[in-house]
Amino acid sequence: MNVSEYLKARKLVKEFTYEVAPMVRGYSDKSLYINVSDHTIKIKDVPPLMKEKFIGGKGYGLKYLWEATTPSTKWDDPENEIIISGGPVCGITQYSGTGKSLVVTISPQTDSVMDSNVGGWFGPFLKLCGFDAIELQGKAEKDVIIILDNRAGGSIRIEEAPAEPVNSHALAEALTEMYCPNEQDKMKIAVVSSGVAAETSLLGMLNFSFYDKRKKRVRLKQAGRGGIGTVFRNKRIKALVALVSKIDNDMNDVTDMKAIIERGQRFNKEIRELDDQQCEMRTKGTAHLVEVMNDYDLLPVNNFRFGSHKDVVGYIDSEIWKARFEQGSFDGCWLGCNMSCAKGVNNYILRSGPYKGESVIVDGPEYETAAGIGSNAGIFNPDYVIEVNFYCDTYGICTISWGTTLAFLMECFESGVLNLERTGGIKLNFGNADSAMELLHLVAKGEGFGKVAGMGVRRLKRYFAEQGWGDPNFLQDIAMENKGLEYSQYMSKESLAQQGGYAMTNKGPQHDEAWLIFMDMVNNHIPTFENKAEALYYFPMFRTWFGLCGFCKLPWNDVEPSNNAQTDEPAKVPEHVDNYVTIYKAVTGRPFDKHRLIEDSERVYQFQRMFNLRRGFGVRKWDAQPYRACGPVTEEEYLSRQERYDKQLKEVVGVQPETMTLQEKMTAMRKYRENRYEQLLDAVYKRRGWDQNGVPTLERLKHLGMDLPELVELRTKYEKGEWSLK
Ligand code: SF4
Repeated sequence: MNVSEYLKARKLVKEFTYEVAPMVRGYSDKSLYINVSDHTIKIKDVPPLMKEKFIGGKGYGLKYLWEATTPSTKWDDPENEIIISGGPVCGITQYSGTGKSLVVTISPQTDSVMDSNVGGWFGPFLKLCGFDAIELQGKAEKDVIIILDNRAGGSIRIEEAPAEPVNSHALAEALTEMYCPNEQDKMKIAVVSSGVAAETSLLGMLNFSFYDKRKKRVRLKQAGRGGIGTVFRNKRIKALVALVSKIDNDMNDVTDMKAIIERGQRFNKEIRELDDQQCEMRTKGTAHLVEVMNDYDLLPVNNFRFGSHKDVVGYIDSEIWKARFEQGSFDGCWLGCNMSCAKGVNNYILRSGPYKGESVIVDGPEYETAAGIGSNAGIFNPDYVIEVNFYCDTYGICTISWGTTLAFLMECFESGVLNLERTGGIKLNFGNADSAMELLHLVAKGEGFGKVAGMGVRRLKRYFAEQGWGDPNFLQDIAMENKGLEYSQYMSKESLAQQGGYAMTNKGPQHDEAWLIFMDMVNNHIPTFENKAEALYYFPMFRTWFGLCGFCKLPWNDVEPSNNAQTDEPAKVPEHVDNYVTIYKAVTGRPFDKHRLIEDSERVYQFQRMFNLRRGFGVRKWDAQPYRACGPVTEEEYLSRQERYDKQLKEVVGVQPETMTLQEKMTAMRKYRENRYEQLLDAVYKRRGWDQNGVPTLERLKHLGMDLPELVELRTKYEKGEWSLK
């Protein structure tokens, strides 16, 4: 790294000074707008209506994106925006999991609205720089770095930066060294960046840095989903940097610090006493889930065909990761998080690619990564998983989307849709770690079959069908995407509620809206359509609220109070809901309770559904799921769970499996399951206040106070058939 060379090549394009607005009860009521085409930098006042209806975080992102774009704006139009906002609670340090920010844009993968939550320090530092949100619009002619600096008053600079590396680990380290050469200052910088795969694929993601002073390493957390990094690099933004003079313990100017500290201490005690017996987040992170999912037949194996594999234990299970993670240090992705689940493999020597031989820290693997690039590709090799984890991060590619894309390609290869000629000689059979590694490097280079692979599952299935390489119906059945986004790494086949939890999401199948598999499949707590609909109302609304305020979801239910099972509604973890209500009130001073929490979330949730409609989506057709998410596509899949399926046919469907051929059984099962899913849609739409086509009714919008003129106009046009749908 040669920082002085990088600096020498810099050219100041625009400098803007301002007075840093103080935070008052979680808000400055100012947002920052930067256009990298014409270098406009301006500070906007946040209107009271916006604060009341949209709260912050994802809410602010959606509102700004709506205002900045038209229904026909494409992801790579200059007018598309990337908005980052943390929400009112973001930045407090007295309760675990309070440093998240939300990133919103029009996605290159879905052509609709994308949101992705992320840790790291940029969200809180943006607030220290005086802003509730930042909007990035335009498209620069040359690579630029944007620097927000509150150290000597407020200053914002846009600089051409041709020399710095693009890949995240190298860039974040270089910028940390450049701006904070002294060790005691390295915790005063936060860097947002992506990587070269965000230029060559549609799966680009953003890395948000934080400095780990014990390990003396720059670390990365990811806003992974939906190609936001691809938009970032398309705007030719190389990095977004925030520099702060200090981190104030009360940076949000909260109303009642005592109440926050009391809840924080109570929760910390729970973590200390219960985490080791429950999820072991402090030693294994989310990777503790690998064998749990394997045990319950829920771990995706070979493109979601199977739910478990004999090679999980001993190769990619949580004990393997625990041994590889550096233990005994603080792994919170924001200050004060005692859950400390941001585990990492330190001093890993890379075995391939442009950084071969370098010693690096690998942030992860988390559960989704171990499952996505490991078991779902039929690869049970921990070094391969760590290596791919590192390269996905530094190249700026989402491990979830990449894992599901790779698994789809492998099934296409094994079923003859692809062959060596079509892949340029890459043998993409399940379990082939060397080929999988080679393909990832090709994606980053934008060469050969890598150029094709980086399109993501939706485009790939269409492309293969257009080429006449495979049966379009088969490709549709096995392509694990909905709305253009790849499925995250849980098997939903045996849980109807989770099928809705995935395919009825606003942005596409990501587990952050609803994870209902245990409630539904394992514990049978929501047996009826009405029960499932209620769960698919409550949990998405509840979980939306984390992304409005700046909370991390994990401390909600990855450790639970010892008496939680005895409460009325253990799935909701009532004591922790009460913590959140208390903290929100203690930060903002607003009157608030658990009912208002759901109302606040629902306003934004319905707005996002209407935003999808504005984009030409947001109707029933787009809530359809690939059959692989719902039932067995191939004979092999049916046979792997034959006993369960035969029993269901006999006891629930009412046919006699012993008199049927395998194909007849599969047809009967499919008809039954697809019909049930349609009934689920009906029940959930009703509960969410949507019409039969999945569009929020005017009455529901009015009831919520979301009869905003733009929504009423859109709803009316749709009603009259004057709105064109895709
Ligand atoms: S629980 Fe994990 S992901 Fe959430 S804030 Fe803490 S360290 Fe970050």
